[in-house]
Formats: sequence, structure tokens, C-alpha cells
Amino acid sequence: MTALNFDTIALHGGYTPDAEAHATSVPIYQTTSYVYDSAEDAAEQFALDKPGQLYTRFTNPTTEVLEKRLAELEGGVGAVAVASGMAAINYALENITVAGDHLVAANTLYGGTHNLLATAYPRRGVTTTFVDIDDLAAVKAAIQPNTKALYIELIGNPNSNIADLSALAEVAHVAGIPLIVDNTFATAYLNQVFDFGADIVVYSATKFLSGHGAALGGIVVDSGHFDWTQNDKFPGLTEPDESYHGLVYTEKFGNAAYVNRIRYYLLRDSGATLSPFNAWLILLGLETLSLRVQRHVDNAQKIAEFLAQHPAVAWVNYAGLPDSPYYELAQTYLPKGPGSIFTFGVVGGASAGRKVLDSVQVFTHFASSGEGKSSILHPASTSHAQLSPAELLASGTRPETLRLSVGIEDVADLIADLDQALQLAVTES
Ligand SMILES: *Cc1c(COP(=O)(O)O)cnc(C)c1O
Repeated sequence: MTALNFDTIALHGGYTPDAEAHATSVPIYQTTSYVYDSAEDAAEQFALDKPGQLYTRFTNPTTEVLEKRLAELEGGVGAVAVASGMAAINYALENITVAGDHLVAANTLYGGTHNLLATAYPRRGVTTTFVDIDDLAAVKAAIQPNTKALYIELIGNPNSNIADLSALAEVAHVAGIPLIVDNTFATAYLNQVFDFGADIVVYSATKFLSGHGAALGGIVVDSGHFDWTQNDKFPGLTEPDESYHGLVYTEKFGNAAYVNRIRYYLLRDSGATLSPFNAWLILLGLETLSLRVQRHVDNAQKIAEFLAQHPAVAWVNYAGLPDSPYYELAQTYLPKGPGSIFTFGVVGGASAGRKVLDSVQVFTHFASSGEGKSSILHPASTSHAQLSPAELLASGTRPETLRLSVGIEDVADLIADLDQALQLAVTES
């Protein structure tokens, strides 16, 4: 059989019905533990000499289907699913950093990630230089001898700025470090980032991968392309791990060393494991990923065009509009559509913006994004509230910025809703 295509993998990848139950839907293995075949079998599994179901903190058959399916969709060598997007991001970086190390990251990241890198990591001795990733010279200049990764989002949050993936991958690779991409806002349906040089991709599965807003989850997928042994920057992967009696991850797991170290070292010790039930919920969402995301981007394009010509709207930031500075990059990297989360500003500034928030009826005021239901948010007072005024400006977020996450409702209803809210906002403020 030839390799299957994306939409087929989304429904079938990683799962073969078992010989007893023949279930078409992936069973939920709601169990902590597994019966070992023998004393020797148990010992071999704990020494990582034999694959198998060890204990649900490490592996679970339901979660494993999700991991295999995502790895197949991305074209990677392996994946590890964890309890939230933040857990995935933290593990992806913790896996290759220790106190004294440094990261280079985009200055337009999800607020939670910015906070992790700007506030929590320095307390652990890991510092980050935030850079404008549109400026390749600035990215190069920020890389130091102790830098361990370049970290970006393909579609930035909240302004839908698009990263020049291939160029950034080259900068990282010349410096001997991996490019790690948070692809939550695009998903593999819009761009398979490994094809453009990314080494690791992380997701908040809470968003588009699920689409229903019923489960938190995160996932790290390893391309298997990065050579961790090319320099001495990654001793955690290339030097003996005393907690496994001298095991060396790159020797044991080859090009899947990175993702296996997250599972067997980081999950073992800090345990932000995904529950099998949430893995199942995410699998359910994944089945319709292509259909949903295509509808999301089609709706987003129509709404951006509607807002751009609306007299009550001051500006619109959407890479699908020809006047966007990211239009060309969007055509290159996201030909099916540059995501469905974008920002705009209302004539009359922050107070008129708040009036829009309080007047919408179909758009719902909530913090998540990438759900079937459309949402609207004021980033400066919510998702990006921890940023200082200067950091806010650097991330392109103005006091009046409103962020839309365009859902999959009937687009005529969404447009009518925004229209009535905008008219109220200009007449009443
Ligand atoms: C939501 C989000 C996260 C965090 O994910 P959680 O599942 O909420 O922990 C990380 N990155 C991006 C781009 C997000 O939108």
C-alpha cells in the first residue's frame, strides 16, 4: 500500500482494531497499569530494553493512537502527548536546557509562552532573548554560544504575523540549534512545518486539533531530522543518564532520541500526562480537522474583507488581505489560508472596542481560540495582561486591539453580528 494522504490518516492513522473487540472507534483504555508477562518482561520494560505499556504516566494505548496519528500527519518519527499545550512547550524546551543556557524566541508569542520564558525560566537559570523574527540579522545576532533553540510560532498570536520558516530554519541550523515551532494556529492541515526545515513542532491540542473546546491537551512531535550529536550542546541527549544506569538517548533511540527523552525522563519525573479520556476526545476532533480548518479560514477571509471596508473599523491585521505585510509569506507558507485568528481596531479606540465586546451576540467572549464557536477577546486586558506596556507594543498589541477567533458558524450570521456591534459602538461611544 502506498503512503496514505492527510485526510485518510486523520481518520485511520495509528489504529488497528484489536483481535477481540474489533472496535471501529478507538477504545478508551481508562487504566493506570498493565499486566506484565513475566518478571523478566517487567524488568526489560523498565530498563527501556523492550517497548510495551509500562504505566500510564509514560504510555497508554489510547494516547498512543493519538501520538502515532499526529506523528504521521506531520511526517515525524514520534510524538508525545501531554496534559496541556503549556506542558508540551515546557517539555520541548526543558528537554534541551539546563541552568546557564539561553534561548532565542519570537517577541510575538502566545502570552502564556512569553510569560514562561520571561518570568519562570530565568528563575531556573534559563534566559531568553526575544527578537523580531522578521529581522533575520537580529535573530542571528541574538544567538549566543549557550543558545539551545530558536523558538517561534508559524502564525503569531494575536496579530497573525507569519514566520519565514525556511529562512529561520537556516539561521538555526547554521548555529547548530533546532528550530522549534508552535503550530497551534495553523495545524498540519495548513502547513507541515517539517517540510520547511522545522525540527520540532509543539501544539496546544486544546485548540484546532480538538475543535470542540472540551479537552485540554498538548503534543510534541519530533521530525527526527536534527542531529543532536553534531556538537556538544545537548549533553542530556548524548551523555549517559545515570537514572537509567548510563543509558544514552541518541544511542538507544537513534533519531527519535528527543521525543523518547521527554517520555521516559521528563514525564517520569514531572508527570503532566494526558488522560486517556482527553486523548480520545482529541482523536474525535482530529477526524474532521481538514473540514473544520478549511471552513475556519474561509470564514476568516470573508470577515477580514468585511471589516476592512467597514467605516467603524480603523485597521485590520490579517495576512489574507493584500495590504498585510505578511501577505506574501502567507501565500508561500499558507496557501489554503493564513489561519482564522486575527486582530482589528475600532474607530474610537479602546472604549469603543470594549463596547463591541459587550454588544456581540453570536461571537462569544472567551479566552480560548480555534474552537468551532467564534470568540472575541481584548488581549491587552486578558491573554497578554502580564506583558508590560513596552512588551505589548513590541508584540504588536495595541490598547484597542480586539482579537477574533473565527469559528465555523454560518459566516452571514458572524458578519451581521459584528456589523450590529460596530454600529452600536460608534453611535454610543
Ligand atoms: C492556547 C495556546 C497555548 C497553550 O495551550 P494550553 O493547552 O492552553 O496549555 C500555547 N500556544 C498557543 C499558540 C496557544 O494558542
